[in-house]
Amino acid sequence: MTYKEIIQKTVEGKYRSVDNTCNGICSKCGECCGHVLPLDQTDLDQIVEYVVKNNIHSNATQLILQNKLQCPYYTGKKDKGCAIYQARPKICRYYKCDKKNISYEEFEGLKNAIPCDMWLLAKELDKDIEKRKIGKEDRK
Ligand code: SF4
Ligand code: SF4
Repeated sequence: MTYKEIIQKTVEGKYRSVDNTCNGICSKCGECCGHVLPLDQTDLDQIVEYVVKNNIHSNATQLILQNKLQCPYYTGKKDKGCAIYQARPKICRYYKCDKKNISYEEFEGLKNAIPCDMWLLAKELDKDIEKRKIGKEDRK
């Protein structure tokens, strides 16, 4: 079974996820925030622009605590679960663990998406942010 088929079955409701919401409201528990997400070019551009503009570093403690299995932009904080909430990809906007009987056709986000290792992306963006900081300091 391919990664895309697994996602497809998930959004079709064939895999039942545990409802971790509080009466339909996301509890920001982060259980659905995996380290591999299906991204298309628009998702990617949006994340890169937002992360660099706002100097958002990946949550490095997750690396040790979760062995990289969780998205590097999950903060672990209940008041602000996602560090890139405004620029989160379409799959994160679409999915909620209490959704039942979702039609795959409804979700356009997978059409041109490829699985992206969020840690590889975050590592590159972390480096980019650091380089910009050094560049600014050099110009002082
Ligand atoms: S949608 Fe994800 S973060 Fe929100 S409650 Fe469900 S599993 Fe937790
Ligand atoms: S981008 Fe945000 S909402 Fe999406 S998996 Fe990562 S932390 Fe969760």
